Amino acid sequence: MAKDNKTAINPRRDEDYPIWYQEVIKAADMAENSDVRGCMVIKPWGYTIWENIQKELDDMFKATGHKNAYFPLFIPLSYLQKEADHVEGFATECAVVTHHKLTKNSEGTLVPDGELDEPLIVRPTSETIIGATFSKWVNSYRDLPILINQWANVVRWERRTRLFLRTAEFLWQEGHTVHATKEEAVDETIKMLGVYRDFAEQVMAIPVITGEKSESERFPGAVSTYSIEAMMQDRKALQAGTSHFLGQKFAKASNIKFQSKDMQEEYAWTTSWGVSTRLIGALIMTHSDDNGLVLPPRIAPAHVVFLPIYKTDEERDTVLAFIEEIRTEIRGLGRYHERHIVADVDDRDMRGGEKNWSWIKKGVPLKVEVGMRDIEKNSLAVLRRDNPELKKDFINRDEFVKNLHATLDDIQKTLFDRAKAFRDENTRTIDDKDEFEAYFTPENKDKPEIHGGFALSHWCGSVQCEDELKDLKITIRNIPLDAKEEAGKCIHCGAPSKRRVVFAKAY
Ligand code: AMP
Repeated sequence: MAKDNKTAINPRRDEDYPIWYQEVIKAADMAENSDVRGCMVIKPWGYTIWENIQKELDDMFKATGHKNAYFPLFIPLSYLQKEADHVEGFATECAVVTHHKLTKNSEGTLVPDGELDEPLIVRPTSETIIGATFSKWVNSYRDLPILINQWANVVRWERRTRLFLRTAEFLWQEGHTVHATKEEAVDETIKMLGVYRDFAEQVMAIPVITGEKSESERFPGAVSTYSIEAMMQDRKALQAGTSHFLGQKFAKASNIKFQSKDMQEEYAWTTSWGVSTRLIGALIMTHSDDNGLVLPPRIAPAHVVFLPIYKTDEERDTVLAFIEEIRTEIRGLGRYHERHIVADVDDRDMRGGEKNWSWIKKGVPLKVEVGMRDIEKNSLAVLRRDNPELKKDFINRDEFVKNLHATLDDIQKTLFDRAKAFRDENTRTIDDKDEFEAYFTPENKDKPEIHGGFALSHWCGSVQCEDELKDLKITIRNIPLDAKEEAGKCIHCGAPSKRRVVFAKAY
């Protein structure tokens, strides 16, 4: 907060980043922990962001030929077991349903009863249940490709949870596709990774690196996994989405076969890809500042909020009428990208300062105050939330409306450029082992000249090097798709390497 140099969020980012993150969520009224371990309540301001993510992504999926469908929440245990690596990967975090009713015991306490013949797993992901369905849908090459997406909730019994970033139950979309050839399935995997990149960068204003995951970080059962990786403001990486090429492994497990053009029976090739409510965590940690949430216009629940200022009932009528006129004109501007411009009025009966700050903390891109004096001057007191100084500009009312699209675009671009500049400043090409280790040593945190976020360094490809670095909490984020072949030496063991990978500490 400007007064006394205090900020609206305490602690500040540089004081305690994890607590700052929780406080931003609380101050913006986005979500809260529930009484159920690891499960969150998503409140309207947070949920509307999720709805906007859904709308934008859904359009992108449909534009690339996908259709939505819905599959069961429960997966029979025997289905999950069909793919050995898959079940092994998820076994330790499954919620298992074993009974189908409750009865009172001799003490009058309700206890589970009616044991199921086969336990059901609450879906942690749906490859096996969707695969079982696809095996019935696919008979001939004419049935392919199948391009399906599901919007759903999933459950993974995570040990350590954090609002949005990692929860036991989370909301997501999962794409599942079936193809006649390997090439088509690989193309689909990379195409959807590109959709995620475009969405993250253009809609959420989050710059990402697209690349392939190392073998040890593959999705359980996948042949190859690709990810988009973003840098948060504490310089740690966040995996913001994944796309998997599943080869024929799941087709074999679920018996997805088809008759080819030359009448041969063949196993199909499948892919899956997903992003979740974690994206909201990425949004918060990429753009927000010490005064709370900062939202890119393309994802914000409201673009503009008007705050009327008045003393008497008469003034109130005048100010509200003036605002209504502007809102009508804004409605006439049509859509801003995929959505209508949302311009709300906050006429709650509360202290002006508190009301003002509530919108700053919620990150609304444009906050506009209107009082009697502004009306006389035909002017508006406008605060652009992307301006960290929180400086008000006095803008002619007609100009404000006329330039609204351009202003929103400018905020969107400013946020992307700022995040990209931050990532670039905190990314270094490193070939020296000591420099590499110093770069990731927590004690160097306050020395930006030697400490940083992403390191582009050589890796020999061995799991042993990767594991030893993991002990230091340094992980391989991905092998960038655009990484050039370049002879070098593994930053850890010195063995020959063909390309650089992205190393970082990560969420
Ligand atoms: P996966 O099916 O494991 O590839 O997960 C797909 C995406 O879901 C990942 O890229 C993450 O962004 C996200 N995700 C995975 N686990 C969680 C979790 N526990 N909470 C929130 N998001 C998650």
